[in-house]
Amino acid sequence: ESMRKTRIQRTKTVCTYCGVGCSFEIWSKGRDILKVEPQPEAPVNGVSTCVKGKWGWDFVNSEERLTHPLIRRGDRFVEATWEEALDLVAEKLQGMKETYGADALGYIASSKCSNEENFLFQKFARAIMGTNNVDNCSRYCQSPATAGLLRTVGIGGDAGTIHDIAGADLVLVVGANPAESHPVLATRVKRAHKLHGQKLIVADLRENELAQRADLHLHPRPGTDLVWLAAVTKYILDQGWEDREFLQQRVNGVDEYIESLQEYTLDYAEKVTGIPKEELIRTATMIHEAKNVCILWAMGVTQHLGGTDTSTSIANLLLVTGNFGRPYTGAYPLRGHNNVQGASDFGTMPAWFPGYEPVQDEEVRSRYEKAWGVSLPKKPGLNNHQIVEAIHDGKIKGMYLFGEEMGLVDSNINYVQAAFEKLDFFVVQDVFFSRTAQFADVVLPAAPSLEKEGTFTNTERRIQRFYPVFEPLGQSKPDWEIFQDLANRLGADWNYHHPGDIMEEAARLAPVFAGVSYKRLEGWNSLLWPVDANGQDTPVLYTEEFGFPDGKARLTPVDWTPPYEPGEEYDLHLNNGRLLEHFHEGNLTYRSAGITHKVPNPWLEVSPELADKRGIKDGALVRLVSPYGAAKVRVMVTNHVKGRELYLPMNAQNDEHAVNRLTSSYHDKVTHTPNYKEMHVRMEVLEAK
Ligand code: SF4
Repeated sequence: ESMRKTRIQRTKTVCTYCGVGCSFEIWSKGRDILKVEPQPEAPVNGVSTCVKGKWGWDFVNSEERLTHPLIRRGDRFVEATWEEALDLVAEKLQGMKETYGADALGYIASSKCSNEENFLFQKFARAIMGTNNVDNCSRYCQSPATAGLLRTVGIGGDAGTIHDIAGADLVLVVGANPAESHPVLATRVKRAHKLHGQKLIVADLRENELAQRADLHLHPRPGTDLVWLAAVTKYILDQGWEDREFLQQRVNGVDEYIESLQEYTLDYAEKVTGIPKEELIRTATMIHEAKNVCILWAMGVTQHLGGTDTSTSIANLLLVTGNFGRPYTGAYPLRGHNNVQGASDFGTMPAWFPGYEPVQDEEVRSRYEKAWGVSLPKKPGLNNHQIVEAIHDGKIKGMYLFGEEMGLVDSNINYVQAAFEKLDFFVVQDVFFSRTAQFADVVLPAAPSLEKEGTFTNTERRIQRFYPVFEPLGQSKPDWEIFQDLANRLGADWNYHHPGDIMEEAARLAPVFAGVSYKRLEGWNSLLWPVDANGQDTPVLYTEEFGFPDGKARLTPVDWTPPYEPGEEYDLHLNNGRLLEHFHEGNLTYRSAGITHKVPNPWLEVSPELADKRGIKDGALVRLVSPYGAAKVRVMVTNHVKGRELYLPMNAQNDEHAVNRLTSSYHDKVTHTPNYKEMHVRMEVLEAK
């Protein structure tokens, strides 16, 4: 008995899936996972997990794992040694930099990888390769939320913690489906609503699970959230329900902002959004009557032409009602990936050093130049979207991408994949031979989180450590080791022995991480940035000051940008998003038996009205056609969607039903986040059933 027990290892890890940041123990023996056991000490989830955290780990031992570097020879890939592969990558990158200039290369980082790995990757791009052309997948999701918050309150993170959301008197959810996308967080809201009298309003096209439970479900027309948010704010001001003292003491730009709201009357909002006036008045009244309000939002807000402006409107509404700077209040963009917050925080962004300090700021740049002993590029780099454009224009010739299925998750993938074809040299580093890897010249095998050490930052800005359960499989390596090997081949003298050394450097350089250290993060400990030099962290932001030099917030006028519509021929609106069971493109969850057993196939949600009209039933096979491509998928008839609205989960087991065969290259005006949610299609019935 004791022999058996001693061979069982228990290792703390942080979930590799969503931004909630659950942590738990993995029980393992050899290379087998025996069970996933959450512990009461876990700061976010305690003894809870969702189905992905519990059952989504088979991929680690999948036979499809990459175990050797691969080099393209004509149409085939052949196995290579690390020496051969890295020598080739170093030689090519160096050669292209010399021939075409540093800005002819693009670097795409990973929100699945650790803070330390993202820190090293941006250091590699900036200090070794000499460009700011580095970005991560927040460009596909929450960049507009970050930009909206940076404009208004000055810090691009959640205002408080999940504990604050659970303790609010009113939670307003806009364009998000937390019960499936952020399940353990949603459980806290469900409990507070059911047992503790918390009020809940959900604004969403779909009748998702939280919408079904809500006190009020607002059903706006697609792409009109800004209008009803502005109208509710105006109504609150017209009633004199604003927090006058808060506005006087802590907010700039009040008069100009109020002026800008003139056109957003209830009548106008009802006309544009389709939400009855009475429901808008009820929303305003509920906000007025609640002492503490939190607003949560996600891709339903951000993935539009005006995603940044709608995010700004959310922050404006909270400022007008004084719902910032106290526990149980504030703005909460729900981060998607386990480490999408951290990837941006640690500097894989074209205009920011780690901790959101601008690359254009002389003082900041010279701090990094001194520390790294190089001169750094001054000009902000290109983002993901601009990199794809620049490849098509012949300005970018080479790309290095790790842990990102860009060829499937970017919008308009026919266009993106055509760009990959044009690259002179493309390095893809991943756990699997992804669909993006098919376009690569060199594929480097990386180790997933269970095979390395590091930290992830969840949606609350909470930094947590994870520890290695297994050795890297085959010859795969942690991403940070690969970057170091490559940097040293290109003349650097990096000498990191452990991810803790990398965090130490980040803490030394970026003021918001000043007091972050592996020692302070040992075991179940965690820290929410900003962390001062004494290790004091910040669960609730803005208690004293907003993130601007004068400490005051800025109410920001915005204009509504109507959603893109391609023309009458495309008569149906196609929405997309997550499922509880699968994660994003599905590369990990489709390789996990328990999950695939439960949900083996994707489907298209069709309303009963539309199904009737087209004479189709559950299981019918349809072809969706947009101006950009086509996808084939089976139908599920459900009243979760209404009328001419369709819903297709974004998980794609194969390219045939990939939603991004249909999406366009249009994007948010400010951040270039694709307008994934403004998609119109026509539907052709292939088999009616
Ligand atoms: Fe993982 Fe998110 Fe599920 Fe928690 S809620 S177990 S972090 S996927």
